Amino acid sequence: MPISFEIPERIKQGLQMTEALATGIMRPEARALDENEHQRPESVIKMTWPVMRDQQKRQLDKMAAAAAGEKPKRKGPGITNLNMIYTFEMLSWGDTGQLLCMPTALLAGAAIEAVGTPEQKERFLRRFAEGDDPVWGAMAMTEPGAGSDTSAIQTTAVLDGATNEWVLNGEKIFCTNGGLALNESNGVVVVWATVDRSAGRAGMKSFVVEANTPGVTVTKAEIKHGIRASDTVSIVFEDARIPYDNILGSAEVRQRDAGSTKGFKGAMATFDASRPQIAASAMGVGRAALEFVKEKLAEAGIEIPYNKPPHELTAIQRDVLEMEAQLKGAWLLTLRAASMLDHGQHNSLEASMAKAKAGKVVTFVTHKAVEILGPLGYSREWLVEKWMRDGKINDIYEGTGQINVLIVARRILGYSSRELR
Ligand SMILES: Cc1cc2nc3c(=O)[nH]c(=O)nc-3n(C[C@H](O)[C@H](O)[C@H](O)COP(=O)(O)OP(=O)(O)OC[C@H]3O[C@@H](n4cnc5c(N)ncnc54)[C@H](O)[C@@H]3O)c2cc1C
Repeated sequence: MPISFEIPERIKQGLQMTEALATGIMRPEARALDENEHQRPESVIKMTWPVMRDQQKRQLDKMAAAAAGEKPKRKGPGITNLNMIYTFEMLSWGDTGQLLCMPTALLAGAAIEAVGTPEQKERFLRRFAEGDDPVWGAMAMTEPGAGSDTSAIQTTAVLDGATNEWVLNGEKIFCTNGGLALNESNGVVVVWATVDRSAGRAGMKSFVVEANTPGVTVTKAEIKHGIRASDTVSIVFEDARIPYDNILGSAEVRQRDAGSTKGFKGAMATFDASRPQIAASAMGVGRAALEFVKEKLAEAGIEIPYNKPPHELTAIQRDVLEMEAQLKGAWLLTLRAASMLDHGQHNSLEASMAKAKAGKVVTFVTHKAVEILGPLGYSREWLVEKWMRDGKINDIYEGTGQINVLIVARRILGYSSRELR
């Protein structure tokens, strides 16, 4: 079957608005928001809330209708993972920090949709589908002593049998949009905690914590290297009580799963969709840097030839061609991972491949861009130095590059996480 590299027409139309936002608002405001970390990107929030809200409403209404046994009114693919990939790429070309601040349920939404009951979806996600005031969601897994090794989580959730409430204690760090969700809107944070430390990952459960829950405090807003428009906070839980029904999935810890990742895997399946999105985000930043380099080289009278053998190219021409080839390779992996999900295929391997490759490629491409452009590339005059800082995050969150390579190796070689770590 021939492979078409054209953007599907249906996606192209939707991208027009996305492109207008990226070029008209995000790119022009990127530098000021980078300089003034912790300032809310008001323009992008104002522009995107009605769109995000209506999209969430349509989705919730559809889920409610399906739960009531109604047939879908309109056939069609709706918003596909491929749509999301192109959107993330384009918006990150505009500014990744602002993209992350768009008011959505984000990773909280993905977790609630993946394992929540219909009642939980309605209760927790309806707030993202109505009203004039934007609402954010967040996901808090990382702790001071638990990053890549999620089984080291220390935050506990203990059931108080007298009140039928979960009591949360612990600290989460580097939570994207945690401040916006808890302090600046009526949002939710999906918090990972252990209900039984001796059971390892099988004892790890996720809980929905709502804004205004007593005992939940945002303690620190990070000062970051890149994506400085994005909100990244620490959250402390001190005897924070939440209703029993705020647990996502079953509360049961199956002892026979102790030490395995079985129970954990269900919610982690959200990575299958989010890793290709992060890879796409990396591609947007990389493309921004590559385009800028080519533009500056063209102004200096240096064109990039595509029909010459390597020995006839200058070092810079070879560098640019290498940047382009690396970006294309990573982009194809990203498209494959997203498209597999749209076709109902299991894509964990491909999602990790795309994420690992894209994180490395954006780091390489943006560093090269700074290098090729000389001192001005390193100056704040241009956005290239910012893209170099922003790009690196794609190699860190949603599983670092090393962890995703490890996942790929395990899947290809057939090892468990205990056998290869
Ligand atoms: C801006 C930002 C936003 C974030 N947002 C969120 C969020 O919303 N929610 C959330 O829960 N977390 C978030 N994180 C945390 C992020 O997911 C973690 O930083 C990441 O998982 C890595 O964990 P760590 O920083 O503890 O590094 P560590 O796990 O301590 O790793 C340090 C280094 O060792 C490497 N390493 C670790 N284990 C292995 C191994 N077995 N083999 C080879 N190499 C290994 C890692 O790849 C890394 O290079 C965010 C982080 C940042 C910087």
